[in-house]
Amino acid sequence: MSYVFNPEGLVRDCLKELTPYHSVAYPGVIKLDANENPFDFPPEITRQMFAALGPQSFTRYPDAMAEELLRELALRRGVPADHIMAGNGSDELILNIMLTFGAGNRVIIATPTFSMYGIHARVSGAEVVEINREDDFDLPVEKIIQAGDGAGLVVICSPNNPTGNSATAEQLTSILGNCRCPVVVDQAYVEFGGADFLPLLEKHPNLVILRTFSKAYGLAGLRVGYLLARPEVLRLLHKVKQPFNLNTFSQLAALAVLRNSGIFARHVEQIVAAREQLFAGMQQIPGVRVYPSDANYLLFSTNYSASDIFHGLLGKKVLVRNFGDPLLSGYLRVTVGRPRENEIFLQSLREVITTLGENIDE
Ligand SMILES: *Cc1c(COP(=O)(O)O)cnc(C)c1O
Repeated sequence: MSYVFNPEGLVRDCLKELTPYHSVAYPGVIKLDANENPFDFPPEITRQMFAALGPQSFTRYPDAMAEELLRELALRRGVPADHIMAGNGSDELILNIMLTFGAGNRVIIATPTFSMYGIHARVSGAEVVEINREDDFDLPVEKIIQAGDGAGLVVICSPNNPTGNSATAEQLTSILGNCRCPVVVDQAYVEFGGADFLPLLEKHPNLVILRTFSKAYGLAGLRVGYLLARPEVLRLLHKVKQPFNLNTFSQLAALAVLRNSGIFARHVEQIVAAREQLFAGMQQIPGVRVYPSDANYLLFSTNYSASDIFHGLLGKKVLVRNFGDPLLSGYLRVTVGRPRENEIFLQSLREVITTLGENIDE
């Protein structure tokens, strides 16, 4: 007897339909597509990281609870260490949150936003309910509260990726007070602007805050994120956490970065100043609409298709972010880079738009 092996026939429909997260490498471009810290990693911190390694740092399993890192974070964020969990990037924490609270439940997501919430929710077997933001991308608070009734989880990103705007404390307080499920607020970009909602944790036991070392702290390649929540929430999340999720080197790298946080605070100041210059520069290009941002990127649209602009820029070796999300058709996102990179982007955008205009006039 012979069998036809058909793995697709075995998986849930939601997996069959899911498009995996997609990231293509373009060598030799000015990389303004992924909101990374654009500066070189400070060599003195690299030296400290390697100096902290011992002869058995790589042979032994890592500290399963990343205790030293949690203690350092607790000190700096002003919360007890039992309010923090570290993850292999906040992406891993998003998956753990979905497995814990999303599976078998409804997950409310304010869109357009970061795609990993929807992907991890579907992978976990949650029912995803997308609530569209207002025309100016503001949060539709009442609609979220209504949808949140009986849901397992509400997810809000602030500052929101990719729109750049932030929620207010008033909006969030209202959502937290009226939803009986955990409300996740992803603050991956809070170093660059917008309100820090950590103080709300004292009054709101359902608040879960996500933070990352990947953006302001320049550690995207080492995958370190963390979440802040009440111990009763963390007790549940620990049930799904991989035991050795954060490798030894990443733990000591995150510690070294925290102990040198002044260097990154200066990076953030420069990026914020460059963001405002870039915003002003883009506003001066005819036909470009650019949205104000509290983060290290700017959302924009033009009179041409996003794909034409994307490929035009890529032809000039400038990589920005184009989206698959139909809610974002026509929009692109550019990460604030180093000053010279931003100048090249502005000049390239002007040229691409001029060329597209000439081709239409023919
Ligand atoms: C980049 C990003 C993350 C991913 O963070 P990692 O810690 O690198 O996994 C999380 N949330 C948002 C909104 C992001 O833009």
